[in-house]
Amino acid sequence: MRSNVSKTNPECPSISELAETIEHCFPEITLFTTNNVSPGTRHTSGLAIDIMLDSTKAAARGRAEGMIAVFIKLQQKMMWSDIIFTDYHIPAGRAGYGGTPFKPNSYTADRRHFDHIHMDWVDFSLKNSGAEYNRIPYKWSAAAKTTGFGTELFAELKSLSGAPPSVPSASAPWIDGWWEVVQEGTTYYYLLRIADGSAAWTYVRPASGKTPQAVHPENRGTFVIGAADRFVITWERWSTIATVERFQSSSSDNTNLAGTSNRGGPLVATKIV
Ligand SMILES: [Zn+2]
Repeated sequence: MRSNVSKTNPECPSISELAETIEHCFPEITLFTTNNVSPGTRHTSGLAIDIMLDSTKAAARGRAEGMIAVFIKLQQKMMWSDIIFTDYHIPAGRAGYGGTPFKPNSYTADRRHFDHIHMDWVDFSLKNSGAEYNRIPYKWSAAAKTTGFGTELFAELKSLSGAPPSVPSASAPWIDGWWEVVQEGTTYYYLLRIADGSAAWTYVRPASGKTPQAVHPENRGTFVIGAADRFVITWERWSTIATVERFQSSSSDNTNLAGTSNRGGPLVATKIV
């Protein structure tokens, strides 16, 4: 739920819709949007939200990283400018924010973001000046008035809400086995096991779809089935952010998948028989 919302400094429409959607989906998460601090901040401007999730707790960190993956997926609809979590930030490549768009970039300005996601719609070209800057630093851009994403955002966030079961349901037996996965011109081989929800990947092509183990696995992870035609893999963490990949069947026989990643371009997967 929102906490300490200012009565005099309104939320921009995008923050308002985002906060309402998160409250609807995860009422237990504390949110800080606007405030009355002086001098004013991005929050006082109504352009920022803090989503309180403690990165030192595995479940909260997993929830935060899952939410960030959803925000990246929906950025074109939400039009946010930047996200900060722990020691990285993810710019959307707009509104004057530097860094590689849609990738984790090192964030060293402070260490205050280990217990929350900060997300904002600030546009650096819309700075107020003089006394007004001290009260309200930034004006609202057209992007900060973006609305209409709530329904889709709610559905995506809701899919994160089930705790990963220790054994995935048997609703999608076609997931089990080897997949050839191509992303940005590179080919990877994934072994997904329905019996324990485990994932592993390697650069070594298996001899066949029956090969029992990954040779020289580069990383391991777990996957959760969201519906009969889709699942989400969370890879173990290499650096500061876990890679979260969302796959959905793209053929009627479930031998082809289309996927998205919070760290790279689109994924295309083909079952190895
Ligand atoms: Zn903040």
